[in-house]
Amino acid sequence: MQFDVITLFPAFFETALQVGLIGKAVEAGLLRFRVHDLRQFGIGPHRQVDDVAYGGGAGMVLRPEPLVAAIEQARTEARSRVVVLSPQGRLWTQALARQYARECDQIVLVCGRYEGIDERVTTYWADDEVSIGDYVLMGGEVAAWVVIESVARLVPGVVGNPESLALESFETGLLDYPQYTRPAVFRGYAVPAVLRSGHHESIERWRRLQALRKTLRNRPDLILAARWAPPPVWWAWMAEWVGWVERALEKMYPSPRSQEAEDAPDHRPD
Ligand code: SAM
Repeated sequence: MQFDVITLFPAFFETALQVGLIGKAVEAGLLRFRVHDLRQFGIGPHRQVDDVAYGGGAGMVLRPEPLVAAIEQARTEARSRVVVLSPQGRLWTQALARQYARECDQIVLVCGRYEGIDERVTTYWADDEVSIGDYVLMGGEVAAWVVIESVARLVPGVVGNPESLALESFETGLLDYPQYTRPAVFRGYAVPAVLRSGHHESIERWRRLQALRKTLRNRPDLILAARWAPPPVWWAWMAEWVGWVERALEKMYPSPRSQEAEDAPDHRPD
């Protein structure tokens, strides 16, 4: 699996790429990384990468030219996906990580900064817009690393024992069961006796119950999602409906294109 990261802060990834299972997988040739410094694609002698926002508002926006140049250089594989990290994206999940690990040979991750990136890059050059959660980070680097780790550990050979992957949180629809190790008693708190009983059936039953309890207490939404997830045909209808609304809006407010866009006056302050 090839990962490409487009960032204003390449140093962020330097140590991370050398440690733990990712470091080992890089050495073994299972994972390949290229970190592209967005500044290298900047405009003019100052290598400018950002500008003020059309329509006003605080903060700067990353310009499309450096981003698109970097994406075009980074994308080299046929089975590649360009992913923009953004709090406005669809939520990154274990299911998505699995899909990416299965379907891609290359993932190009675009890290935003400041107020974000010019929307045309997301619309016309990206395959996906992904959020790692309902909070706002300062930049896309941490989010990119979340995507990298969650996909990388699903690449065959990266995690030593593939069995351990199948039983983890989210894979079964529930959170994982609680784990204990030595000592059997720590500061007066004992490991549940059943885990030391050697009775495999009882251990299995206890673990299933604990996984359910933990999920009910911490993430009841996972249980509801599994029970009430609409069937695929509903999703298809919804997608069609969204497409219909988008086309109607496009007719009412056509987006400027090519020559028309070139000719449009630039109202930004100098
Ligand atoms: N103005 C944007 C908004 O409110 O949606 C927030 C921009 S944020 C300060 C700067 C960058 O951090 C984003 O372009 C994105 O790359 C990254 N980022 C922040 N929160 C994120 C999240 N939850 N998931 C993925 N990326 C995020």
